[in-house]
Amino acid sequence: MLELTKEQNMLVKMVRSFSQREIAPRAEELDRTGAFPAEIVQKMAELGLLGLNVPREFGGAGLGEVDKVLAVTEVAQACSSTAELFAVQLLVNGIIAAHGTREQKQRYLGMTCRQGKLGAFALTEPGAGSDAGGLQTTAVEDGDSYVLNGSKCFISNLGPQEGDYAIVIAVTDRAKKTHGGMTAFLVDRDTPGFQVGKLEDKMGIRSAAVSELILEDCRVGKEQILGKVGRGFQIAMSGLDSGRIGIAAQACGEAQAALDAAVSYAKQRLQFGRPISAQQGIQWYLAEMATKLEAAKLLTIKAAALRDRGEPSGMNASMAKFFAGETANEVAAKALQIHGGYGYMKDYAIERIYRDARILTIYEGTSEVQKIVIAKELLK
Ligand SMILES: Cc1cc2nc3c(=O)[nH]c(=O)nc-3n(C[C@H](O)[C@H](O)[C@H](O)COP(=O)(O)OP(=O)(O)OC[C@H]3O[C@@H](n4cnc5c(N)ncnc54)[C@H](O)[C@@H]3O)c2cc1C
Repeated sequence: MLELTKEQNMLVKMVRSFSQREIAPRAEELDRTGAFPAEIVQKMAELGLLGLNVPREFGGAGLGEVDKVLAVTEVAQACSSTAELFAVQLLVNGIIAAHGTREQKQRYLGMTCRQGKLGAFALTEPGAGSDAGGLQTTAVEDGDSYVLNGSKCFISNLGPQEGDYAIVIAVTDRAKKTHGGMTAFLVDRDTPGFQVGKLEDKMGIRSAAVSELILEDCRVGKEQILGKVGRGFQIAMSGLDSGRIGIAAQACGEAQAALDAAVSYAKQRLQFGRPISAQQGIQWYLAEMATKLEAAKLLTIKAAALRDRGEPSGMNASMAKFFAGETANEVAAKALQIHGGYGYMKDYAIERIYRDARILTIYEGTSEVQKIVIAKELLK
């Protein structure tokens, strides 16, 4: 499990070189302006990264979950905002590849791979966050179509110009709730009634597009149903198992960037006549940070390897997401501490990394929710 294949080593080398050359130099500017990195997305599509987990027959690279972890980790070391849009696209790709019809895969996966078009995953609503079973958005059957009404919030890969389609989870039978009462739909951005609302002004990952989505009498043909009617909740949850591995990978990349920054700063900052890295207190911080990061990487790779082998991986995905998310926050906080007052200033990257890391214990299921998933599995 621990040894990467020759192809995986080449993938890491390629993504690292691309990320450090094309993305890292823009991370500070993207954070400052909040501008969406549209040109980077196009380059990621050209390089085959955006379609990394799309089967070859639909234009992708046909790679697996471990490959995804390696690639997202590298991108996250360069820029958290870019890593988040990348991780979300891979989540969307994975859901369509697993549940889409041939026509849906050709159309949606094809447009992502060929043209760099982005998809969103729209589950969360103002009243249904951790409790995704509490969705209020409805899809009512009407002849050979469904009419969607409701509002979604905090939807990544959606912005004033960004996002071309969304997987929308809606209630089709209220009586059945999560057991057959929800359905997933593929909805194009230009469908009448699909309105992108407020673009969120965020603490971190500032150039990732995250918006409200309002569905008002949004009519979609039955060919837009993703998977079967009544399977929406299960499709969303199984997609999130993979999504959580992606966020854990993002956390590992951000924690690595924070650790690298701390090591470099500690070696060059002189106090009391020598580098602060000569102080045992600082050395212990660095040792703890590196150890926890290594553990986070191993948990993440293990969850990914289980998924690649088709074995149950939900609990491992939650462990990885929980531990890596918390670790990234801890490592970023300690790295900032090692920078002293300079770490509090925008002149140093750690100020941005610290803010960016904060989301990692919240989206795609909070740390508390991951612990619920883990405990449920233990106690079943
Ligand atoms: C930047 C960003 C991007 C996002 N992108 C997407 C996206 O692309 N698609 C999408 O569908 N959603 C997205 N989300 C939504 C995200 O997944 C939710 O914010 C998250 O699941 C938490 O839901 P909530 O915000 O409603 O918090 P709440 O569910 O209201 O939780 C508030 C607090 O209560 C705790 N809590 C809730 N229930 C329990 C419980 N049973 N036991 C213990 N503690 C509990 C939570 O852990 C949390 O600490 C995004 C959110 C953000 C901030």
